[in-house]
Amino acid sequence: MILIFLGMPGSGKGTQAQLLAQHHNFVQLSTGDLIRHEISGKTPRGLAIQNLVEAGEYVPDEIILELVESNLLRGVKYIFDGFPRTLNQAVMLDKILKERGMPVSRVIQFAIDDKTVSERLSSRLTCMKCNHVYNRMTSPPVKEGVCDECGSTELKLRKDDQPQSIAKRLKVYEEQAKPLEDYYISQGLLISLDASLPAQTVGQQLESLVLDRNV
Ligand code: AMP
Repeated sequence: MILIFLGMPGSGKGTQAQLLAQHHNFVQLSTGDLIRHEISGKTPRGLAIQNLVEAGEYVPDEIILELVESNLLRGVKYIFDGFPRTLNQAVMLDKILKERGMPVSRVIQFAIDDKTVSERLSSRLTCMKCNHVYNRMTSPPVKEGVCDECGSTELKLRKDDQPQSIAKRLKVYEEQAKPLEDYYISQGLLISLDASLPAQTVGQQLESLVLDRNV
């Protein structure tokens, strides 16, 4: 089963993907995480894209597709989190999945407004070690400054969660999102969720979708 999570940065798709992966045996494939891994490892690819990412721009499609293809295993249930993000990526993904006999089951759109996500992103704290995400206001770690999951004390505001990069990321998202949504609507795959609801409610709605035998 392949699920695709579409939504603005800060719409909660990463958090929900993490939870669903834990409880329902999915592998979460986040292109953002793969990219941050390349950057923190200072690989040639990471060094080439670091400036783009920190400025809130998209990484070129070829690099994204190489990263995804090299991490894709047959027979695994995936949640694609933050990928595809452009129409070209979606078309290329279909080709890659077709070759492997792995059709997309559902595309979940996390619908939310700019103002809510800007507020969420600027109070987001990310564990630099295990990528677990907190919100200073609504879901802080149990012990201030310490990751509940791995004990790391490196809980930081990501460079691209600084105000200037946030504005850029939302603009880039809006430019690319519509054709992508239309593509999946035309295939009858898109389901929209109200991502401004509390995380627990969104999680319950997602679970019932995924447990639905018709998915
Ligand atoms: P995310 O953690 O998903 O918000 O991604 C962080 C950053 O990584 C984005 O702002 C982009 O610079 C880059 N990125 C992640 N996924 C993609 C993608 N599918 N296409 C292009 N750029 C991406």
